[in-house]
Parts: sequence; structure tokens; C-alpha cells
Amino acid sequence: MTVQQSKKRPLSRYLKDFKHTQTHCAHCAKILDRITLTRCGEIVSKTAIAQLDSLIDENSWQTERQSWAALCRFCGDLYSKEQQHYFDIIGFKEYLFEQTEMSHGTIREYVVRLRRLGNHLSSQNIPLPSSPVAYLDDSFDAWLPPTSTNNYRIALRKYGQFQTLNQNRDVHFQENKSTSDIY
Ligand SMILES: [Zn+2]
Repeated sequence: MTVQQSKKRPLSRYLKDFKHTQTHCAHCAKILDRITLTRCGEIVSKTAIAQLDSLIDENSWQTERQSWAALCRFCGDLYSKEQQHYFDIIGFKEYLFEQTEMSHGTIREYVVRLRRLGNHLSSQNIPLPSSPVAYLDDSFDAWLPPTSTNNYRIALRKYGQFQTLNQNRDVHFQENKSTSDIY
């Protein structure tokens, strides 16, 4: 029995099983088709996983598995590449999922549009506005791409709503903080 409990297997084996038991994306809850595994938020490739041959027992795996997540390809891409984006792409995606009734496909379209627009704006060195109002009025009009302009404008407005909500939340937080400072 003791032998059974301490039986060790390569980490890659546990991960293979783990992968097969995951049915929904850990971030957007979409049913998984092509799975991307991440460890502490970093994508680990199939090849790298195959090379994880350190032998561990079930107990160690239970601890180790807390660091792993199975993501759909879309989320995997976002979380690995978009941390330093012009816009807060990840926050925007979460906002659309949590605060709107949009379908997965529509959210994806908004996110893709905003990513493209962010790349376009940063390649022209357009500074980020100091207030989210700029996303809602026509401040960006001069910089928008000449094709699908209206689609970009719509995505930008949606992003403006998200940023406005964020700002209000911060202000609220500050107010609460100063109240507790006084008492
Ligand atoms: Zn996902």
C-alpha cells in the first residue's frame, strides 16, 4: 500500500492526464478544442511538456497542478502575448465576459479589432489619453485606420465604457480609503 502511494511517474505523464480531463477553458469557460497548457501564466509548449521527465508522486503532483491551467487557444495567445499591449486587452476581455451578454464569437471579434488598433496606434507613437472620455468622443478619429474605420470606432467606444467603469471604481475606492483614514 505504501508502495502504491509513493509510486512515482514523470511529470509529463501527469500533465497528459491532466490535459485529457480538462473540458473547459480556465479563463473564459469555453469548451476546449485545442488546448494550451500554462504554468504560472506562462505557456508551456507540447515539446517542453514532453521533456518534463522528473519523477514525482501523486502528492507532489497535487501541489504542482495548482500552477497549471488549460486554456483555449484564444486565451492562451492573449495571456502570453498581450501583457504589454497599448490597450489593457486582458482586462477588456474579462470585462466583456463578466459585464456584457455578448457571445464568445462577438467578444473575440471585439478583442481582435482592439488588438489590431492598438498595434496600429503604437506603431504611430500615439500616446495613451489621460482620460477615458477620449475613447468615447472623436479624439482618435484622425489616427484610425482608413479601412473598417467604423468597426474600430465601435471597439474603441466599448473599450471606453470599460475604462470609464474602471475609473469610477478607482474613485470609489479612493473615497472609501479617505473615509477610513479619517475615522
Ligand atoms: Zn478561453
